[in-house]
Amino acid sequence: MPDAIGALPPDPAEVLRRVFGHTGFRGQQEAVIRHVASGGSGLVLMPTGGGKSLCYQVPALCRPGLGVVVSPLIALMEDQVAALRQQGVAAGALHSELPEEERRAVRRALRQGELKLLYVSPERLTLNGTLDDLARQEIALFAVDEAHCVSQWGHHFRPEYRDLGVLAERFPRVPRLALTATADPRTVEDIRRQLGLADDPVFRASFDRPNIRIAAQAKEQERAQLRAFIAAASDGSGAGIVYCGTRARTEQTAAWLRAEGYDALAFHAGLSPEAKREAHRRFARGDAVVMAATIAFGMGIDRPDVRWVAHTDLPRSPESWYQEIGRAGRDGLPAHALLLYGAQDIVRARHWIERSAAPPEQKRIERARLEAMVAIAEAAACRRKLLLRCFGEDQPAENCGNCDVCLAPPRVFDGTVAAQKLLSAVLRTGRRFGLGHIVDVLRGRLTDKVAQLGHDTLPTFGVGKDLSDAAWRGVARQLVARGALDLDEHGGLVPTEAARPILRGEATVTLREDVLAPRAPARLARP
Ligand code: ADP
Ligand code: ZN
Repeated sequence: MPDAIGALPPDPAEVLRRVFGHTGFRGQQEAVIRHVASGGSGLVLMPTGGGKSLCYQVPALCRPGLGVVVSPLIALMEDQVAALRQQGVAAGALHSELPEEERRAVRRALRQGELKLLYVSPERLTLNGTLDDLARQEIALFAVDEAHCVSQWGHHFRPEYRDLGVLAERFPRVPRLALTATADPRTVEDIRRQLGLADDPVFRASFDRPNIRIAAQAKEQERAQLRAFIAAASDGSGAGIVYCGTRARTEQTAAWLRAEGYDALAFHAGLSPEAKREAHRRFARGDAVVMAATIAFGMGIDRPDVRWVAHTDLPRSPESWYQEIGRAGRDGLPAHALLLYGAQDIVRARHWIERSAAPPEQKRIERARLEAMVAIAEAAACRRKLLLRCFGEDQPAENCGNCDVCLAPPRVFDGTVAAQKLLSAVLRTGRRFGLGHIVDVLRGRLTDKVAQLGHDTLPTFGVGKDLSDAAWRGVARQLVARGALDLDEHGGLVPTEAARPILRGEATVTLREDVLAPRAPARLARP
């Protein structure tokens, strides 16, 4: 492993050009790199494909000493190490799947100070003596990739990440850079707290991926819908991914796709390591291959020409969905994403959360995420705006022009009066009841509960006989979608600040006409 670094000038732009062959930085890269190269710590929020790797690779090469990159993704480590070695950078990796021989060689190089960049899995980093080895030499920086794994609120929590707090204690003067594509505010705060970055800057790139056309459809005839989508979205050479909710469905979908003439593979966590590696290899090689996969597929894949991503089941959160569709169109060319969802999925996901062993606080968060996902699926207005709002981005007033709602707005009607009725029923019953009870009150049904609570004496009792139960649920879902209604931890409806102008008649509510002829069985929408 020749060490070409000694000969390199420490200027970031020069390193970018000479080592990586790129002519310029993208977006926030330069700001991050200059900050870290001059000794600063921080957190980088960038969407998948945004170019996070250079944010730590370049400053590691600009600073004296060893750059240490913590990553849970073995495939990604190997790719990057191979690429760096090809450029003459002394790079190595330490993880559990390394052959013993290779591990010994990397350890020796590490002890002798011959490495410039070390990729290490979190459990290896905190294991027997690695930290001691590191403490004996100059460290350029620590990069913690996939930093959301530190947060219990996400779906990717890894207990080993918890121990990374030790870096701030043992190496207080070494810059620490955490990186993630998950930007929901709670996870961000969690990362900053756990990794000791509370006083350091957050570099936030826009999460918008305008080249991905997004669409959502109620699942009616899944296969016909998929067939039409793939035919329209694929260009014959790029790849595609169908995300399925279960392992069995990946197998069924792959078999069906093969029968349709696609070169399709199933991928899920139950495959053998060899089968997984082979699938990754086939996908990476650039064939026009279609993966029918669970969410186990995708972390660390870096194929620029994925032309489309479809979901046949509702993702659990906007963050997951976004991360998964973000694998399409990394080359910047037009790409397509389709979400197929059914009321069944929503109920299943809700039950899944309720039955999980998670503590109540986490359940509350997962519920809120799921409902945000439902809101995007049901949106009557630009889906991208709703999606970006989940990442703390307030979009300009214009619609995106590249989602199905913008391109073909659904038929709508003025639902202001219906919304007012529903909101006042919620307020008059004391903001703590679930939708089922509110609908009973609106429709004037004298249930035991209604009688017991005396809700039949409220002025809103029976004012909603003109709409069906399902239509009322649709109204509620759309109020949730526009942020006028929240759900508390018991599924109780709570009006938000945004409900006020609606109640006062200062804001109108436009509802999708399809709530009047709902596609979902009525009982399924109860939270
Ligand atoms: P992330 O880790 O954020 O998902 P990567 O670091 O893998 O993204 O970068 C995604 C792709 O963009 C890679 O193929 C990378 O080579 C390319 N890339 C990143 N930064 C630049 C740049 N400044 N100029 C050209 N290509 C870049
Ligand atoms: Zn739009």
